[in-house]
Amino acid sequence: MSIAKNIRQIEAQIDGRAKLVAVTKTKPISLLQEAYDAGCKCFGENKVQEMVEKQALLPTDIEWHLIGHLQTNKVKYMASFVSLIHSVDSLKLLQEINKQAAKAERVIDCLLQIHIAQEETKFGFSETEVETLLGSDEVEKLANVRIVGLMGMASNVADELQIRHEFRSLKLFFDKLNTSYATSFTILSMGMSGDYLLAIEEGSTLVRVGSAIFGSR
Ligand SMILES: *Cc1c(COP(=O)(O)O)cnc(C)c1O
Repeated sequence: MSIAKNIRQIEAQIDGRAKLVAVTKTKPISLLQEAYDAGCKCFGENKVQEMVEKQALLPTDIEWHLIGHLQTNKVKYMASFVSLIHSVDSLKLLQEINKQAAKAERVIDCLLQIHIAQEETKFGFSETEVETLLGSDEVEKLANVRIVGLMGMASNVADELQIRHEFRSLKLFFDKLNTSYATSFTILSMGMSGDYLLAIEEGSTLVRVGSAIFGSR
């Protein structure tokens, strides 16, 4: 298996329709370096500590995305360098990101994670919660975070129709927010190794692909 070949194949399938985040969680530095050498400069990790350790060892022109559930007490470790946080699921977390971004004299881009799957286990806001959040004064006060879009994970099922419907409903909600609120969201993060082409057909602009590049974990 060649990482470079996998990346080339996936990029060819994506064909410029979405941006590829290579999900590097649990993978050793040598494989990240291989992906970097193949031209991939955008990595997604799901644990802050692992991301911090890897970031220190790799070239500085890599964009680091935090894609996994984030605890407020971990934000400070990555505030100086993280490019995009996909997994914002509470106002409290957004406030902490704002605070740490201010300390680092940065504005940090964030996505609101929306619960679209049937399964109970996935984190995220409901659509109603997001509408309440965006309508509140609390969010406007946050000068050091920029909410640039939404992220969602489809159910882990074989039923393509169900997955497609979940992606479609997230895209509809994304469009609705851009027409009914003063938002101009540009990023819709949906799609992983098993469903990224489906996700792109349904309007994804950013796909998070791990095992299809690096092999199974
Ligand atoms: C692990 C992970 C991915 C990548 O999953 P693959 O199936 O290996 O592509 C994408 N998004 C999130 C949030 C993840 O935790």
